Amino acid sequence: MKIYLVGGAIRDKLLGLKVRERDFVVVGATVDEMLRLGFKAVGKDFPVFLHPETYEEYALARTERKVAAGYHGFVFHAEPSVTLEQDLARRDLTINAMAQDEDGNLIDPFNGKNDLDRKCLKHVSAAFREDPVRILRLARFAAFLPEFTIDESTFILMQEMVKAGEVDALVPERVWQETKRALECAKPNRFFEVLKECGALSILFPSIEKRFNLAIKLLNNAVKKSKDPRVRFAALLNNLSISEIKGFAKKLNIPREYLDLALLSSTYCGFIFDENSRSAEEILCFFEKIDAFRRPKRLNDLLSVCVVFNKLPKEKIQNYKRLFEVVSNINGKDVSRTKSGVEIKNELHRLRRIAIEAKLF
Ligand code: ATP
Ligand code: MG
Repeated sequence: MKIYLVGGAIRDKLLGLKVRERDFVVVGATVDEMLRLGFKAVGKDFPVFLHPETYEEYALARTERKVAAGYHGFVFHAEPSVTLEQDLARRDLTINAMAQDEDGNLIDPFNGKNDLDRKCLKHVSAAFREDPVRILRLARFAAFLPEFTIDESTFILMQEMVKAGEVDALVPERVWQETKRALECAKPNRFFEVLKECGALSILFPSIEKRFNLAIKLLNNAVKKSKDPRVRFAALLNNLSISEIKGFAKKLNIPREYLDLALLSSTYCGFIFDENSRSAEEILCFFEKIDAFRRPKRLNDLLSVCVVFNKLPKEKIQNYKRLFEVVSNINGKDVSRTKSGVEIKNELHRLRRIAIEAKLF
């Protein structure tokens, strides 16, 4: 039995980047042997194990064969006779298809090191076309390694996959997973640009494609100002209508925290930008409508998105924060206990309005 470190860990180490997780391939072992050594089986479709102490992933070397359309259309074959090279051959990109043995020797049958040096994203074999997730992964790597270009042959393959309808088979969870990871990268715009160039964007994100240049401009502004993927996402969608954002979220099953901020900023950035001076009543109603008293983080998040639009002077942001601080200090303890629920609510509103007025004038 031989163990090799594979995939992203080798790639990132050669690039001089921090290695976030390590994946291993085990050659020449059976499932029973792994279990006997104390590894915990976790793979549903193929034999993957967790190391009993480090909890890192160890997969038996395997080959795969496409037998039907879609995500689950693969038959895997993992036996002690499967070689490391066979396992590496099923991987997506040459830069992800390198391995290292226990003595630190690099095993690189597809010239991944050379593609790293020439900064090129290139598929390992024609089997690339069998899994549309690879298009998403490639677009995400373009965002992660923005100075890399896509090999022409790989790009043609991606276009053909899109034309053949492969992208329609992607499950929402994977689309969102890769999108979210791309939003966390150095240049998320590359993710959307690559998808646009190969034709996948109009299938996956038609509402972004419609006003593409503006969406990318907003996204790029957000990337300069915030690392928070929720803020970046909200900026990307800011020129979409509420119903477009909701449709988008439903299709991709987007987590609540992302959807919330996108809707909030699409609805209220305009209010905050408006140059007309606001009355105390309007400002207070705005705080109430965004539920800032119960969820104060929402105001901060919203202001983080507004900052992205350059037009907003810093003082204005500070002003909103200061006003909110003043009114949020006024709460139940400032209102007589003898009052009914509605009366308390009205009285709180009145006291808070007076407090804002005092600050405004
Ligand atoms: P990172 O973990 O930094 O996102 P990674 O390349 O390690 O990058 P993983 O999802 O951890 O990505 O996958 C580990 C390895 O498995 C990859 O490097 C690649 O070789 C292979 N791999 C993952 N997904 C696919 C896929 N859909 N098709 C082909 N190979 C894949
Ligand atoms: Mg990995």
